[in-house]
Amino acid sequence: MKWSFKLARFFDIDIYIHQTFLLLLLWFGFTNYQRHGTFIAALEGVLFIIALFACVVLHEYGHALTARRFGIKTKHITLLPIGGVAAMEKMPEKPSQELLIAFAGPAVNIIIAMGLYMILQMTPTIDQKIPLSISNSWLINLLIVNIFLAIFNLIPAFPMDGGRILRAALAMKMQYANATLWASNIGKLFAILFTAYGLYSNQYMLALIGVFLWLGATAENKSTQFKHKIKQLSIQHIMIKDFTILRPDDDLAIAERIYQQNLQQDFPIGDKSNISHVLSFNALKTALQHYDKSTAINTLSLSEVLTVDIDVNIQQLTEQLKQSPYKMIAVKDKGHVVGIIGIQQILSLADL
Ligand code: ZN
Repeated sequence: MKWSFKLARFFDIDIYIHQTFLLLLLWFGFTNYQRHGTFIAALEGVLFIIALFACVVLHEYGHALTARRFGIKTKHITLLPIGGVAAMEKMPEKPSQELLIAFAGPAVNIIIAMGLYMILQMTPTIDQKIPLSISNSWLINLLIVNIFLAIFNLIPAFPMDGGRILRAALAMKMQYANATLWASNIGKLFAILFTAYGLYSNQYMLALIGVFLWLGATAENKSTQFKHKIKQLSIQHIMIKDFTILRPDDDLAIAERIYQQNLQQDFPIGDKSNISHVLSFNALKTALQHYDKSTAINTLSLSEVLTVDIDVNIQQLTEQLKQSPYKMIAVKDKGHVVGIIGIQQILSLADL
């Protein structure tokens, strides 16, 4: 992200901090100094903001490490003046996973608040022992802020955590794209409320959060609907219709010539009514290095082909491919192979 610099790295995830965040620290130090007139008060204010954002970082790690359990990597965590963002590589597929990932953030704040409560219970006279900044009221404020963070993030305002929980809950009952539409409309409603109330009560940070919420809800709904539409497309929109089928006894020289003529990368093997195997581009390259060009392709190690009907859509196809090592899909219509789809082609769509 622009205007950010790397602060630290924990659990293989970089933490970035936005430069405007430093302005926030200065501003807090300054206002605290103005209010109380002492350097210690200014320092206490700054330390409080640092502690608060440390809690925000832990909140984001709650999301990131839960996502990791489901095989989803987090590219980085960025701290902005309005909060933290954990940039995940993709969204979880199962609603139950999204629900747990979303809830893990606020759960961290609840745990921190409980920890602070226990510390306060155990050391009622902490004030006398540590004279500088860590006073009871400082800890109490941090506890309150953590409870606030948990509650605020659990407001069902998509794409905030509560909104993601709502989307996940809806997605258990309806289609994911519909659930996203509902959640994002509710998110936009909250966005209007936040901004209106923020402006009315001079809480400009809340107003700003409302604006970001609106933009976030709009963008994420748009991309979800787009991906949904693509996945509903019939595979005939993405299949390659112009291709050459090799016979099992054809040799490497033929495959090489076809590649040079029309850049066909994968070579289905069989005939128009049945494609049994595929010679992938990589396998062809390796074979050309190690074998004579007169070698028949059926003596090489070939990959399996999945044959599907032309009515299948992209979503159904990606689901079929999940459990299997197929390198190519042959598309059949009325008993004839009318198209082929390379595995890379379909995987890039499946990642959507
Ligand atoms: Zn969160």
